[in-house]
Amino acid sequence: MNATSPLRPILDLTRDELIAWVEEGGERPYRADQIRKWIFGKRVTEFDEMHDVSKVVRERLKAEFRLFSSEVVKHQVAKDRTEKLLLRLQDGNHVETVLMREPNRRTVCISSQVGCAMGCVFCASGLLGVKRNLTTAEILEQVLRVDRLLGPDERLTNVVVMGIGEPLANMRHLLPALDTLNDKGGMGLGYRRITISTVGLPEKIREFASHDKPYSLAVSLHAPNDELRTRLVPVNKNIGIDAILQAADDYFAQTGRRITYEYVLLRGQNDSPEHAAELGRLLAHRAAHVNLIPMNSITDLPYAEPGEPQTRAFFDVLARYGVVTTVRKRKGADIDAACGQLRLERERGEAALVEIAAPTVADVPA
Ligand code: SAH
Repeated sequence: MNATSPLRPILDLTRDELIAWVEEGGERPYRADQIRKWIFGKRVTEFDEMHDVSKVVRERLKAEFRLFSSEVVKHQVAKDRTEKLLLRLQDGNHVETVLMREPNRRTVCISSQVGCAMGCVFCASGLLGVKRNLTTAEILEQVLRVDRLLGPDERLTNVVVMGIGEPLANMRHLLPALDTLNDKGGMGLGYRRITISTVGLPEKIREFASHDKPYSLAVSLHAPNDELRTRLVPVNKNIGIDAILQAADDYFAQTGRRITYEYVLLRGQNDSPEHAAELGRLLAHRAAHVNLIPMNSITDLPYAEPGEPQTRAFFDVLARYGVVTTVRKRKGADIDAACGQLRLERERGEAALVEIAAPTVADVPA
């Protein structure tokens, strides 16, 4: 059904484009905002649910557009109420999207590409390379799918682009999606509630800054020196930490947004007090915040998290340098919520997994 649909994804249209489309049909421009309100604010899944949109317009919408292009092929709910969706795109590729709940927060973690070209040695997303960029509609759709999992009194509060892919390698499709998430007639999330996480591509960070919208920026550093970083994050070879820190400093200067440096702790690799001190020296005088991420273990990969005492010691050294540090809480540990693992399983075992491909209900009750 979906796979051969000639209909255009309505989520690929900007507000202006939707206004133009509405006007082509002889309708007043405000109709476009009415339609967007149903999509972004009222969680509809069918055009026919848009009650205050005239039947004529609804028929036109149905004849030309589809609201969703993906299909939910797996839906897991963890004990901590983290939820994870595996979405099958029109062309048969898969991406993952995660909902994380905290008392006052509902955060969705979205993917930006099918696979990833960066090749970080501890990450499941890059194991099969990159296949393609996601479209704007495919990026937005992940947020809307998760929004529709929420209860009537729950609201999405944050979006992080920390799923599969390198977001700054797909800026053309990402930026319009972020702008719709921010837009009052879209999801209405403030800039600081929208975070993109990058492997650290200096030119792209500058381009992102020049967009002049102060989204939050997280940079995946993972090592305090180039020798180690190139081993863990191979694209570092032609980039280098200095250039990344400079671009990140410029991002702060331009947007006023303090940078988050992500640091995945890998036992025996980058987790010693000496590494922490080296990192402390790099960041002590910067507008920076460190987010330590105990590694999520991945079958196949020979890396592990360091454990609590080592993490604590690393944290303490950074504190001595005056670097504001948080340790990322593990979410959804019982549902493989680390990025890329579900997709990997699916791509490798497509044939073996067909019998569980259908349900859209929770595999594990909340
Ligand atoms: N490509 C972007 C965004 C996707 S990865 C980036 O590199 O930032 C999002 C974050 O998850 C990155 O910091 C990444 O290094 C981290 N990550 C990847 N695999 C992980 C794993 N197995 N355990 C913990 N964090 C991981």
